[in-house]
Amino acid sequence: MKYIDEFHDPDLAARLLDEIRATVTRPWALMEVCGGQTHTIIRHGIDQLLPDEVELIHGPGCPVCVTPLEVIDKALEIASRPGVIFCSFGDMLRVPGTGRDLFQVRGAGGDVRVVYSPLDALRIAEQNPDREVVFFGIGFETTAPPNAMTVHQARKLGIRNFSLLVSHVRVPPAIEAIMQSPNCRVQAFLAAGHVCSVMGTQEYPELAERFRVPIVVTGFEPLDILEGVRRTVLQLERGEHSVDNAYPRAVRAEGNPAARAMLDDVFEVTDRPWRGIGVIPDSGWRLSERYRDYDAEYRFSVDGINTREPAECRSGEVLQGLLKPHECEAFGTTCTPRTPLGATMVSSEGACAAYYLYRRLELKAPSSGAPSLEGSAVV
Ligand code: SF4
Repeated sequence: MKYIDEFHDPDLAARLLDEIRATVTRPWALMEVCGGQTHTIIRHGIDQLLPDEVELIHGPGCPVCVTPLEVIDKALEIASRPGVIFCSFGDMLRVPGTGRDLFQVRGAGGDVRVVYSPLDALRIAEQNPDREVVFFGIGFETTAPPNAMTVHQARKLGIRNFSLLVSHVRVPPAIEAIMQSPNCRVQAFLAAGHVCSVMGTQEYPELAERFRVPIVVTGFEPLDILEGVRRTVLQLERGEHSVDNAYPRAVRAEGNPAARAMLDDVFEVTDRPWRGIGVIPDSGWRLSERYRDYDAEYRFSVDGINTREPAECRSGEVLQGLLKPHECEAFGTTCTPRTPLGATMVSSEGACAAYYLYRRLELKAPSSGAPSLEGSAVV
């Protein structure tokens, strides 16, 4: 398939690995920001193919995983109300709130629907004028523009029975928070290519300069990851710390101006709590004053939420790169994708889910000998 197969080429992968091996002289810790990149890395065994000196730390870039428990509980409360049609992408339905999830609300009679676009939810609102239709708008700079556009459209069309439960987050403040953490081991970042395709690269030079970290914009296929690592290691070995775009087929410096204009029109920057991490200043968006009528939190005044995280879930440490998923005692025992204790085991981008999908057998019975490219899914 075009744009996929050529980025899985085993000969090119071997060459990139050779270049990385020839460049590296000492240990380096790189963080891949996005959960999609984490899944590529684990699925294709890229971390096992890299020289021992290069460690990949998984970052907090899974949108489902960082959505605060309080917001999940608000979603559950709103979805339970009579007359509400609650719409969401499918991966949010199994994310555990305090004591239940959206599937259980649906099982108990709630009208919870899976949609494939926020515009589907708007259409449902148009078709059901006597019902309140809520769309669960979560995620990073990638999902925020279509959600913003849908609210803009609702206002333009005068559809009043539609609202958005918003929990959008932004990557640059998270990078800042990671670098300011006293436990930080990260020396460079593979920035998320899809986020930069929307926002461009203009937010990153100041971070690279202030924290003296290379930031390499990286794509999602195996060769994209290897090229991102190669460029990052090169900078680290040279003592450089600049922003480099290793994903030029999708990312331009200015990003997507139309999407950014829509974000500026509909949202305003706000402090946001990240599940397992805490509040990060200016790390999210909420609907701006002009669109406040479309904010489900205001419309439904959901109060009295008492959140309770399972004590054994260590997803906060996983999300900060302080713990690998299999180092959590519950991994693969009391916590599995069918019985998840934390969102990182549910989401298709969650690090715990990636380790469970691709590594659990190997982690139970470690193989002897170094992994080879021949045995890797890269080929
Ligand atoms: S394995 Fe399960 S319990 Fe452990 S950190 Fe991951 S989601 Fe939480």
